[in-house]
Amino acid sequence: MSTSNFDFAIIGAGAAGLHLALAMCEDPYFCHKRILILEKLVKDQNDRTWCFWEKGNGLWDEIIQQSWSKGEFFHKEKRVSLSLSPYRYKMLRSIDFYEYAKRKISASSQFQWVEEDVQEVVNGDPIQINGLRSFYTAEMVFDSRIPTDFIKAEDSYTRILQHFKGWVIKTDYDAFNSDRFTMMDFRLIWPESTSFTYVLPLNKREALIEFTLFTSSLLQKNDYEVMLQSYINDILKIQEYEIVEHEQGLIPMSDFPFENYSVGNHIRIGTGGGWVKPSTGYSFKNCERNSRKLIANIKLNKQPNDGLIKMKFRIYDILFLDVLYRQNYRGPELFNIMYTKIPVQTIFAFLDDQTSFKQDLSIMFRFPWTPFLFSVVKKISHIWNKS
Ligand SMILES: Cc1cc2nc3c(=O)[nH]c(=O)nc-3n(C[C@H](O)[C@H](O)[C@H](O)COP(=O)(O)OP(=O)(O)OC[C@H]3O[C@@H](n4cnc5c(N)ncnc54)[C@H](O)[C@@H]3O)c2cc1C
Repeated sequence: MSTSNFDFAIIGAGAAGLHLALAMCEDPYFCHKRILILEKLVKDQNDRTWCFWEKGNGLWDEIIQQSWSKGEFFHKEKRVSLSLSPYRYKMLRSIDFYEYAKRKISASSQFQWVEEDVQEVVNGDPIQINGLRSFYTAEMVFDSRIPTDFIKAEDSYTRILQHFKGWVIKTDYDAFNSDRFTMMDFRLIWPESTSFTYVLPLNKREALIEFTLFTSSLLQKNDYEVMLQSYINDILKIQEYEIVEHEQGLIPMSDFPFENYSVGNHIRIGTGGGWVKPSTGYSFKNCERNSRKLIANIKLNKQPNDGLIKMKFRIYDILFLDVLYRQNYRGPELFNIMYTKIPVQTIFAFLDDQTSFKQDLSIMFRFPWTPFLFSVVKKISHIWNKS
């Protein structure tokens, strides 16, 4: 049993926990603090690929696998060329991020990394963390476990699953244009659904190809592979290839109020803190941004998660998610409007919660109003019925 009290404890060394730990490593404020990391896994597997966009150089450039300044979007017979400058779309293997973070953390004496499966966090002063092996105490806890209410609750929140399967395939001839990636290709979809394929070429002969759905329920295991195979054969016209890696994943897209589960100095982070953008499933850059915001707040003696959620963008997310939930078949049409009528730079700024209200209006006017108005009315009546 451990009796030592830590200044900070981070539960979960995934994207959010490691972004936070790395930001603490770099900040002299945390130099003499005692920081505990509790992680149940060894984190020695490449369990996901993260993609994100950013302007110019970024913090992870030395470990990214590939990046592009050009992309493509496909809908029916239409191909839209996306020129991203000043942004680049970057791809990072999770194992490279885990190893990079472990190297930095092990070189910083204020950290203690313990393999532990956390069972319970008891709020108090200090906060007690009960694990399978031992218990620990800390003044402030950052917790990346997903609140159990999200998994079991019967409530009125919208839940969509972003689920996908991908293969890294290799050909013995030049089959890919490695200077551009495919953001979304709606030429092959699962019937009546928001589903698409994206292609991330690593070089002229290798690419990660993922078939993705934003729907309420999963497909049969074999269905993802049938769709991938069909995309590769019929759309990319590649008949001979070798599958060298697999990736499968599930990301919750929801308006569930994860932030309400942060209490006092027990702060939820990552997916469990609502850091996944509900309308897109992206969260890698949010983990970076939010970790830095948490640190800035701690240094100013403010509530750590103050200002993390921007209400205006949360409302847009809730409405978009509700439209996808009710009229899932409309996804291809809505994303087609997005990528054909709005400059990609504006889309990225909007999805990063960084557009002005005037820009938001110019985006909204591109979309059909009826489904969104219906969602507004539905959500207001939910709030009304609750009060
Ligand atoms: C396959 C896949 C691909 C994705 N691709 C992208 C992408 O391209 N771009 C993007 O922006 N987002 C992407 N996401 C979404 C999101 O970025 C990731 O899910 C991200 O890893 C979420 O960060 P997190 O820290 O909340 O969770 P995780 O990275 O899953 O980390 C949580 C950590 O907590 C540990 N843990 C859980 N419970 C306990 C416990 N009881 N005790 C101790 N440790 C515990 C887990 O072992 C894990 O290491 C992807 C997600 C998946 C699954």
